Formats: sequence, structure tokens, C-alpha cells
Amino acid sequence: MSIGVLALQGDYDAHARMVERCGTTAQRVRCPQELKRVSGLIIPGGESTTIGKLIDRWGLHEPLLERARQGMPIWGTCAGLILLARRVEGSDQYRMGLLDVTVRRNAFGRQIDSFETDLPIRGFPGGPIRAVFIRAPLIIEVGPEAEALCETDAGVVMVRQGNLWGTSFHPELTDDCRMHRAFIELARG
Ligand code: GLN
Repeated sequence: MSIGVLALQGDYDAHARMVERCGTTAQRVRCPQELKRVSGLIIPGGESTTIGKLIDRWGLHEPLLERARQGMPIWGTCAGLILLARRVEGSDQYRMGLLDVTVRRNAFGRQIDSFETDLPIRGFPGGPIRAVFIRAPLIIEVGPEAEALCETDAGVVMVRQGNLWGTSFHPELTDDCRMHRAFIELARG
């Protein structure tokens, strides 16, 4: 069993290290062939317009939608959340259009406004999760297909929709590997 990390741009190495720390093989995914081998996929933080262009360029769009339709778990963090969303406020940039949410990019300010906090997540055991926000998106609307699992004072920062997870924040940049463990369990089915 291996967990894929979309490795086109952004902080995919941090996710891959976290997956490996959980004792699971991390497969960097750059082409449709590599996508075939994985049981779950993490879409990392980075720059969502850049990652979107590369998804298109490497022929990953249809294969990604196909795996999602088959029920493969996909977890988008930060830019990854934007790429999974159906609606991006004021933008027609590339998106996979799977998560029934509207996101607002850079809703917490600039890079220097980055912050860390502890957040309780509904249905998630073991106490609050350490969360890092870096030019993070906010989920400004949650449609009927998705479920909000976590909020800050600003609004919703995590949703789940079946096998899809979206988080505004970066758990891969902390010491807390519980979310990665839970995602691996989901992918193990
Ligand atoms: N601001 C970036 C974007 O809109 C996301 C930032 C991140 O992934 N840390 O694409």
C-alpha cells in the first residue's frame, strides 16, 4: 500500500516525510502512471494556479477525476484545498471541482501573517490538532454535499465530503502525525 503525494510544486516533501514517519510508503506522483499505484493521494500546499497548470500539462486531470469517482481518498492541504474546490471566489483558475465549497484565497493575509494554532476537529480523537496557516485559504461557503469539521474565528478551515478532505492549514509542518495516520487508515479501507 502506498500513499501518493502530488509532486508537481509546493511542499510535497514534507507530506512524504510525514507519511513515511507513519511507516507507510510515500509515492511521489507526477504522471498518470504513478497515480495508478497509490491507494490515496495528498495534494500539498504551494501555489494553486501553478499546480493547476501542471496538472493539466502532465495529463493528470482526467486520471485524477477518475480515481476520485472510484472512491480513492484525496486530501488537499492549503493550495490542495483550492484545487479540490468547486468554487474559488473571484477566480476562474484551474480546479478539480470536487469539493462542494467556495474558497477565498489568501484570506488570512500575507506570508508574514502566517500563524500556528491548536484546533479541535469534530470526530477526531486525541485532542486539538496543531495547525500551521501560510497564506491560507478560507472556506467561505459549505454546500450540502460537504461537512464542516473545524473552524477558526475567521470561519471554516476543514471539510470532509465522503473520501475527500480539505484543510486550509498544514499538519505536515508540525510534529503531530495523527491526521496523516487517519488518512492512511482511510486509504487502507
Ligand atoms: N496562497 C496559496 C494559493 O492561493 C496557497 C498557500 C499554501 O498552499 N500554503 O495558491
